[in-house]
Amino acid sequence: MTPLSLSEFAARVHAGDLSIVEHTHAILDEAEETNEQFHHFVKIDRAGALAQAEVLDARLKKGESLGVLAGVPVSVKDAICVRGVESRAGSAILNGYVPPFDATSVARIRAAGGIVIGKTSQDEFGFGTFGLNTGIGFETPKNPLDDSRVCGGSSAGCGGFTALTKHTHVSLAESTGGSISAPAAFCGVAGLTPTYGRVSRYGLMDYASSLDKIGAMGKTVDDAACLLEVVSGHDPRESTSADRPVDFFTSTPSAKPLRAGLVMDFFGAGIAPEIEKAVRRSVSRLEKKGVEFSEVHLPKNRRFGVAAYYVTAMAEASTNLAKFAGMRYGATLPLSGSYNSFFSRVREAHFGFEAKRRVLLGTFVRMAGYRDAFYLKALKARTVLQNEFRQAFGGSDVLVHPAMPVLPPRVDEAKNLSPVEEYAMDLCTVPANFSGLPHASVPLRTTAGLPAGLGLTADVWNERHVIRLAKLAEERS
Ligand code: GLN
Repeated sequence: MTPLSLSEFAARVHAGDLSIVEHTHAILDEAEETNEQFHHFVKIDRAGALAQAEVLDARLKKGESLGVLAGVPVSVKDAICVRGVESRAGSAILNGYVPPFDATSVARIRAAGGIVIGKTSQDEFGFGTFGLNTGIGFETPKNPLDDSRVCGGSSAGCGGFTALTKHTHVSLAESTGGSISAPAAFCGVAGLTPTYGRVSRYGLMDYASSLDKIGAMGKTVDDAACLLEVVSGHDPRESTSADRPVDFFTSTPSAKPLRAGLVMDFFGAGIAPEIEKAVRRSVSRLEKKGVEFSEVHLPKNRRFGVAAYYVTAMAEASTNLAKFAGMRYGATLPLSGSYNSFFSRVREAHFGFEAKRRVLLGTFVRMAGYRDAFYLKALKARTVLQNEFRQAFGGSDVLVHPAMPVLPPRVDEAKNLSPVEEYAMDLCTVPANFSGLPHASVPLRTTAGLPAGLGLTADVWNERHVIRLAKLAEERS
């Protein structure tokens, strides 16, 4: 049975037909019972969640209105700080770090009546596509539709638990290069990634600061869009957060037919036939609903997107991780030797393999002598790739493409891929992220019985187009 939508849930709560405390107990029990097998959570905050539920129930009894997330349980990616709850971005180097503050997005969830139930599993600092690069000592999150398969990463637990739960729930996720769309596609849920700057990054542990975007996942597009609107908007604490009106979910959509561009470069070689079929089926259904389609070409994004993104992302990651050295946050070791050897020992002992690879490669591409050939070239490529998108938006409101090129792989299959093969899986998700564009993955059924994701990308600040098309494309059971 599909759980109540966020709006139905809030209406029932306000009408006094639904006890927030009972619902919170039920979802916490489910999360604890299923975590042994699926590992979607790295921390379940039973005491904190129940305390929030009691406060909300008491406020309700006094006749207060609680907001659009009245009593809704929200799971939060581990990289987003939650006050009083250990937050580690999936890394052992942050073992024991308990933030004394809430990220702005988390504070906004609480202000709208949402309840934080726990922190979800992820690839260490977001470094991955399958959820398999979890930090030292962390378990591997599993796909709830088939536990021999991956959830997708890096927001693996967000996608996994959103698909698994029988209760009303939404998840606060984050994407640098595809980390919301990948798990949404693999787990069969809706994932929304906003324009860069739409949601404050205050309290988000950085992967790559010019790329990181907090977004939302839900069983339906409406649920994810509602959460995204709650957390969006200017934050004086975060200099890249934009001061623009936020009404992409609540405003009435325009009556003009949507113009969609089918991205021809994201079909054919490298895309699984079942996925191509599912996307084409969805396109014909959308055409019947009045969406006008044309063909669009993004050859430069296809050819250079992944390479330019990884150079940029690793360069930024290597500087962002420099602060984790056993002095200020999280894990440490007994002080001995020179500072440099102490820092190296702490990092050697606590960073996982992929994090080390990225620190080394990221440092290399920024080094004098190599910077012009790699890092600066990637920056120039970024402008070229953004311009290619800009041209495509001349004739289309939304671009349509597969979200992921393959169905959710089995854990052993994904583990056998080389790093370059893994990075190549981001073919269709990296371009929108690299250019800072709002995008979605909407679940599609496939003949293989496993879900695929329909990728939708719009120009900056046009979340409303993405959401409108996503709702038309959604296959409701
Ligand atoms: N797979 C990409 C990477 O590893 C994107 C992950 C993300 O968005 N955090 O960088």
